[in-house]
Amino acid sequence: FVHQLADPAVAPQELLASPLVAVAASGLPLPPALYGPSRPNSAGADLACEAMRAPLLAAIAATRVETVAETRAEDAGAAMARLAAGFPAWSASPLAERAAALRRAADLLEQRLPEYCGLLVREAHKTLGDAISEVREAADFCRYYAEQAEARLAEQLLPGPTGERNTLRLHGRGVFVCISPWNFPLAIFAGQVVAALVAGNSVAAKPAEQTPAVAKRFVALLHEAGVPGDALELLHGPGETVGAALVADVRTAGVCFTGSTQVARLINRTLAAKDGAIVPLIAETGGLNAMIVDSTALPEQVVDAVVQSAFRSAGQRCSALRLLAVHESVADGVFKMLAGAMAELSLGDPALLATDVGPVIDDEAYAGLARQIARLRQQARLVGETPSPAVPVMPRLVPPVAFEIGAVEELREEIFGPVLHLVRWSGDVDALVARINALGYGLTLGVQTRIDSRAERIAAQARIGNVYVNRNIIGAVVGVQPFGGEGLSGTGPKAGGPHYLYRFCAEQTLTVNT
Ligand code: NAP
Repeated sequence: FVHQLADPAVAPQELLASPLVAVAASGLPLPPALYGPSRPNSAGADLACEAMRAPLLAAIAATRVETVAETRAEDAGAAMARLAAGFPAWSASPLAERAAALRRAADLLEQRLPEYCGLLVREAHKTLGDAISEVREAADFCRYYAEQAEARLAEQLLPGPTGERNTLRLHGRGVFVCISPWNFPLAIFAGQVVAALVAGNSVAAKPAEQTPAVAKRFVALLHEAGVPGDALELLHGPGETVGAALVADVRTAGVCFTGSTQVARLINRTLAAKDGAIVPLIAETGGLNAMIVDSTALPEQVVDAVVQSAFRSAGQRCSALRLLAVHESVADGVFKMLAGAMAELSLGDPALLATDVGPVIDDEAYAGLARQIARLRQQARLVGETPSPAVPVMPRLVPPVAFEIGAVEELREEIFGPVLHLVRWSGDVDALVARINALGYGLTLGVQTRIDSRAERIAAQARIGNVYVNRNIIGAVVGVQPFGGEGLSGTGPKAGGPHYLYRFCAEQTLTVNT
């Protein structure tokens, strides 16, 4: 079918009027280069550079329409058969060759950064800053997993008291099914697929329906980088049919899923009901993420962190802030400053550099958010709202909005958009952490305090995968901030962390009587 990317609007040469981009471009220290030339989180600096800006804007303007072939559920089995046949050769290929393919992919991605940014802006409605960061993150995943594979998956001799030669070997499991969401259609898609590949699996990759074009382009790039056709196939189509068929297939040796908690449960049930081998599931799912602000926190720092965490990417990040809990002694001041900052955000076309918040992904998401916001308008107190553009510029723009609610427990489900809940707290911070833990999710948590021991204590008590102190709670950097949650937020292992690749491997101990 023909996949129509959003209508291209010619992006004028705008200056860096965006508060979010301006923050990234100015005072904040940028992390040093981690894996080769890629520089995580430096999108703002690139946008400030005239030489980078022109090709990016040209690529966005040039991005038009992409055609992808939809897989029928009944054809998924044939693809799985081809991948099962391709597995032995790929699995037996030297680790160094597989790692080299990933490094070539990273180089190609960086050479084609404008092209991928164009796709991310047009297909996933990413702002330019978010698009650059995402391409960088995808390249980081490739280089990091290449490095980790060589460091951790090589054969190990285990000397010991048995008088025999004991060797531990790790190898791919077979055909891994990788199922990914639309909100990071390049970085998450790439991270899953290259991890499974470098560990020696063949891969059936099923991207989200909303973002097939960027997945198609990246799979072609991996083939160009040296991954054989029978080690990696792309299967477009609905999750309910194509995704479900892949999960249920008898040849599936593992599933790597990122998406909603509900779909992770469905997949888990299907795998549990299957006859034959027990199939491992890696699931990274949603969050009800909070930030705790005590009376010693710096209000300006809090508000900057909240705006970035709750509203960047239109709140469509699993790590995004959903609940801001402010100590009652400072709550009025923080809420007022936050409302002021929200009024300054600019909502509009993501291809324009001045835009902070672009449209949400599709009509269904827009309608769902409209319903949730209408309910909150009736049940909660409106504290802040970004004004809609005077003239409607494009569909599906959801103005960031913040409501004060009565209690942490009123938060029941993840609202995947720019909607923030505010709550006041008093008394014992331990009790507040316990109530946040009791929500059952465990993805990200922010702490804003000038008391180091309090931050430590909160982190120690939180059953939460990523805790951030005195900063925003989004944008984990591959290799140094391994990312992933617990409880309803996922099974682990953490993406971009040193234990990730092991879960894609089977282990063999070889004992030889010498
Ligand atoms: P989703 O609806 O769960 O979909 C995720 C993927 O699963 C899509 O490719 C989808 O296909 C597929 N799928 C749907 N039903 C399926 C089934 N029965 N069997 C197999 N596959 C199926 O999630 P989403 O709306 O794309 O993404 C947003 C969610 O992802 C949020 O909850 C967010 O918090 C979470 N997320 C988590 C992380 C993390 O690292 N923890 C990162 C990003 C996003 P279709 O496209 O056809 O629906």
